[in-house]
Amino acid sequence: MPKFIFSFEDKTVKKLKNKKNILGGKGANLGEMGRMGLPVPPGFTVSTEVCDIFYKSKKKLPIKIIKEIEKELKNTEKKTKKKFGDLNNPLLVSVRSGARVSMPGMMDTILNLGLNDKTVKALAKKTSNGRFAKDSYRRFIQMYSSVVLGVRAHVFEEMIDNYKLTKGVLLDNDLDESDWDGLIKNFKELVKTEKKIEFPQNVYEQLHGAINAVFLSWNSQRAKTYRKLNQIPDDWGTAVNIQAMVFGNMGEECSTGVAFTRNPSTGEKSFFGEFLINAQGEDVVAGTRTPQHITKKAKKDSGSKELSMEEVMPKVYKELSKVFLKLEKHYRDMQDIEFTVENNKLWMLQTRAGKRTAKAAIKIAVDMVKEKLISKKEAVLRIDPNTLDTLLHPTLDEKVEKKIIASGLPASPGAASGKVVFSADEAERLNGMMQDTILVRLETSPEDIHGMHAAKGILTARGGMTSHAAVVARGMGRPCVSGSSEITIDYETKEFKTGNEVIREGDIITIDGGSGKVMKGLVPTVQPEISGYFSTLMKWADEFRKLKVRTNAETENDSKTAREFGAEGIGLCRTEHMFFDEERILSVRQMILSKSKDDRGNALIKLLPHQKNDFKQIFKVMSGLPVTVRLLDPPLHEFLPKTERDIEEVARSLNLGVKEVKDRIAELHEENPMLGHRGCRLGISFPEIYEMQCEAIFEALYDLKKEKKKSALVEIMIPLISTDIELKILRELVDRTAKKIQTKYKIKLDYIVGTMIELPGAALQAKAISKYADFFSFGTNDLTQTTLGISRDDSGKFLNDYIDSKIFQIDPFVSLEQNGVGELVEIASSRGRKANKNLKLGICGEHGGDPKSIEFCSKTKLDYISCSPFRVPVARLAAAQAELRKQ
Ligand code: PEP
Ligand code: MG
Repeated sequence: MPKFIFSFEDKTVKKLKNKKNILGGKGANLGEMGRMGLPVPPGFTVSTEVCDIFYKSKKKLPIKIIKEIEKELKNTEKKTKKKFGDLNNPLLVSVRSGARVSMPGMMDTILNLGLNDKTVKALAKKTSNGRFAKDSYRRFIQMYSSVVLGVRAHVFEEMIDNYKLTKGVLLDNDLDESDWDGLIKNFKELVKTEKKIEFPQNVYEQLHGAINAVFLSWNSQRAKTYRKLNQIPDDWGTAVNIQAMVFGNMGEECSTGVAFTRNPSTGEKSFFGEFLINAQGEDVVAGTRTPQHITKKAKKDSGSKELSMEEVMPKVYKELSKVFLKLEKHYRDMQDIEFTVENNKLWMLQTRAGKRTAKAAIKIAVDMVKEKLISKKEAVLRIDPNTLDTLLHPTLDEKVEKKIIASGLPASPGAASGKVVFSADEAERLNGMMQDTILVRLETSPEDIHGMHAAKGILTARGGMTSHAAVVARGMGRPCVSGSSEITIDYETKEFKTGNEVIREGDIITIDGGSGKVMKGLVPTVQPEISGYFSTLMKWADEFRKLKVRTNAETENDSKTAREFGAEGIGLCRTEHMFFDEERILSVRQMILSKSKDDRGNALIKLLPHQKNDFKQIFKVMSGLPVTVRLLDPPLHEFLPKTERDIEEVARSLNLGVKEVKDRIAELHEENPMLGHRGCRLGISFPEIYEMQCEAIFEALYDLKKEKKKSALVEIMIPLISTDIELKILRELVDRTAKKIQTKYKIKLDYIVGTMIELPGAALQAKAISKYADFFSFGTNDLTQTTLGISRDDSGKFLNDYIDSKIFQIDPFVSLEQNGVGELVEIASSRGRKANKNLKLGICGEHGGDPKSIEFCSKTKLDYISCSPFRVPVARLAAAQAELRKQ
């Protein structure tokens, strides 16, 4: 039988090629910590392969594997000198999940396993601490009953709360042994009534139940959602870690905590964490008691009055600090750690690379290069390009007056405004209607994950910086204010109170996850700029990348933003988008609806000065850099008037009757406008439109020359061609118009002409087409639509089913579908380049800002990618990573 069980000391682990794939992150790191000489309670890992076997064996563990597990448990007994189920010195274990990559809070864990009515007495006697033993037993019954037996967890919590109310105490720690005795009895009764079974007393039955539950939790709804959001394959499976328990709940000399070796919000190089005296692990993240800080400094900074660990347990704190340093040096990364102190002895329960905000990730990577822990290349490779988004988006405008109604912990940076909602489902519902929401909860739990994703921000009344809300929000890049104790939430009436304010569901609030402030109403925001650590990292990325990064922009403002973000030109200026404002759209509609050349001419004359002026501004902003101007490509349905008011307005301006306009609209109606009279087809039918546009371009160039201003390098692009003849005809049109302006002003103007490759036919005929093109720009939005035959406008209705059925891993309009669409890009690139050595190649579909697609572009040796202004830094980093991954 292959090896499925690995003790934490197992020497053969070193030889495993992909340790984490087999042992999961938690298991692999527990073993590694042990080998580093750190204090790790004995235990072992059941490999991820067993998860696969479990599912293939009708969700049952084969007997052989059960036997192996029980054999390995004997070794743990030996090491701890305790015995599982023993009536003198019982061994208790934790049973915890652990996938390849951490999925915080998504899967199940069971602590204190091995307790029953008899062993609990033995534990009480052995430790001379009845209260501790009973507290552990009630915790076990709670966890096991909810995770394995399916009893609703909150019922137990309500029973405890009610009991505390009758006893007149506030905290769990105020309950004594006899209180827990009573509650244990009631808990067991509850299990009996709800599940019609006695709470299992056989410790092996408990163990098997727990292992099965951990495997089953791999496919819980919340774990599946998390995997989908984070693109984690479903077939990886989870490992199970079985480990001897150590106890943080034995008294005042005991504690439990979680900590980061650096600040996960800011990246600051100081230990950062929370701990609770006389508690078990779950208490820290559950947010039921507010934890204390680890360091004196953090306590001071937060204004907390509770003593820090550095003050209450100075010796253990010192030891812990040493462990932190050792771990960082070993893993060469910021670590997220769980520990327990049992009677002043420190035990390490977990270490993993800590989740962090984008801001922290960048600071940590840059600092670690300076500390010579990692190289520049590693620093560049460490940042997930998609997370940069959170740094590029607006922060609160400092100049605007704000009405602060509450404050909490700055758990995840960024500002967000939206309607208050009190449930994850409501956040998801409103998101579906394109409405921004702030999810307000007492505390969040893994059940809320879909709502946290759908909301623009999260506000919780309870919980610390390592609470579920804080950790998940940081991971998702959602702004979050946690533990705002000033607010009282009433889920029933759907409102929260703070001071004299009552905020109801649907009211708009703003939260600032960077400062922890909550404000009434919508607070305006300002654009951030790239500076400090961010710009250092970007500079390093630029040193490694080969792909040029341009932007898709058609306004002066967007062009400026993009240039500030590092764009090296414009890869797509969609000229039809320049006509969306009210004044111009009328002329565009007039142009489209015109029946005669004269009418069209009149409309074009009105548009020309606007176009010329826009081009001039853009060419100025992008001086010295290439700007690809695409000639008009309006799918007609996007531009025709739809409302009565618009129709009347067009009729008036064209001197036509409303009926006539309506008839014309009906005449122009297309069943399939995306494949209709658009793109270069418009230029073929109405050459005067493209002539006007070229005139505007060349006039703008001439003006700049005249004003002695440096211009951009103009590239004129013909859209949606399917044959070489279309391009031949339209290139001649461009050259002819250029000649006209050059003769008029007796001047030479520089420009090149190219085309979009966005139809499969064009991709296949690249050889012939490249004869007339100086460049190809892959319009992968249309190329995806036409290759897969999936309408860009209608795919939303069924693509989710395709993703759920694993036909596509990801929406092909978000990330380039490489088998079909990608192959066409490759074919066109190689055929085009073969026939025309100087052919420049780029991509300007939405995929130009998607890291995975960028990697493909890098492999295909395109010259540049082009994306929306805010994606430019993302694309710069992704392009560098693509290059580094080739090495
Ligand atoms: C494309 O099709 O990829 C493209 C960039 O053009 P548009 O999105 O304007 O059709
Ligand atoms: Mg297109």
